[in-house]
Amino acid sequence: MKHFLLINPWIYDTAAYDFWLKPLGLLYVGGILKKEGFQVSLLDLMNRYDNYFVKNDKIKDRYYGTGKFHYEKVENPPVLKDIPRRFKRYGLPKEELKKRLENYSDIDGIIVTSVMTYWYYGVYETIKEIRKIFPEKPIFLGGIYVNIMPAHAKKIFEELNVHIINGTGTFAINKMLKYYNLQIDNFNWFEEIDPAYELYNSQLPHVVITSSIGCPFRCTYCVTPRMWKYQTRSVKKIISGLETILSEKPVKDVVFFDDAFLLHPQKEELLNELSRFNVRYHLPNGIHAKLVTPKIARLFAKANFKIIKLGYETSDEELQKKTGGKVSNEDLKNAANYLLNEGLTDVSAYIMANLPEQKVDDVKKAIDFCLENNIIPSVNEFTPIPNTPQYMELVEKGWIDINTDPLLLNNSILPYWWKYGMSVEEIEGIKKYLQKKKEEYNLLGRH
Ligand code: SF4
Repeated sequence: MKHFLLINPWIYDTAAYDFWLKPLGLLYVGGILKKEGFQVSLLDLMNRYDNYFVKNDKIKDRYYGTGKFHYEKVENPPVLKDIPRRFKRYGLPKEELKKRLENYSDIDGIIVTSVMTYWYYGVYETIKEIRKIFPEKPIFLGGIYVNIMPAHAKKIFEELNVHIINGTGTFAINKMLKYYNLQIDNFNWFEEIDPAYELYNSQLPHVVITSSIGCPFRCTYCVTPRMWKYQTRSVKKIISGLETILSEKPVKDVVFFDDAFLLHPQKEELLNELSRFNVRYHLPNGIHAKLVTPKIARLFAKANFKIIKLGYETSDEELQKKTGGKVSNEDLKNAANYLLNEGLTDVSAYIMANLPEQKVDDVKKAIDFCLENNIIPSVNEFTPIPNTPQYMELVEKGWIDINTDPLLLNNSILPYWWKYGMSVEEIEGIKKYLQKKKEEYNLLGRH
């Protein structure tokens, strides 16, 4: 039977933090391949609990299973050479990757995943290293970046002789297996398969799971509904899956990566069942404030949910409607009240800064609105995601060139060159305002 090595690549960026990052898609690929009888190994270059970091005393935990990644400073990629922000390579050191790869001379193929479009450079650098050790082995690249920008991926990775695999689940796996003249049956993998956490040969700081994939909403700046058909998993399978994962990896923190957690049709039953595990749960992806009721808030508290992020984005009602209408100021206020009444104090709301045509004052107003309603404001800078409706609108207006290198679209880089958004000084001003307000409200250090 064929043996595949799954690799979660390095991140190259100006800043990165382990806010519960796990290569969930890759772990699903591992689960499916194992079920079909293939031999599978995993090399997660972003595992902060990798044995290398344990041995060298380099684990930097912070709160609730999050923490700092190990990094080394690197040269900026040529397209960013004039940007005054220094790039770093996050994850396992290069020498250690080389040593590890040498143990896998028997493998038949290497599967690499990708996430953000503006992280493709880290994927490229990882595969460049793999090619030095394995000049001939087949390498397959899939994941979110590849699905959003397949043509870009083909062009960039051609010189490294990489097979670009778009699609998800069994469909993507069959595309890869075609190379070996093999095929597996299509089945409802999202219902049947658990992410293969057993492939890690270390302990973990947290685990990430999901009760659904995709999202039925259609926010103009978001890629999720364009990537996945919305699907939920049965409560029975979520719970039995969690039991298995926790027996393999006994962690304190379990993170739901759902983009539409509260749209699950059996959410109350799910929350009730979750309360029997002795762990803390977190919802970092922004839940729909409209769907938080007093009962849901009670069930969150009973199950021991801690960090709950509410999707908010902007306090400007026109902009709320224009970008998808998923939340109103009233919804946010009500949701916060219900959650706070249950003693859930780690509740914050995502506010977007640097949306096209957004004014600095709008961001400040959204910060104030959150604070007045006892919600911790969490400001995120906007990243235009290629091929979303909003991106295409910007292209049509001539505000972004369709061939812009995704590295330039990284939200920490955008203000340095994009003249249609906020300037570096304006973004800095917002950050200072947020800091000052957090001090005033005694919220420093809250997330
Ligand atoms: S609700 Fe969230 S996940 Fe769904 S489309 Fe909007 S931003 Fe994306």
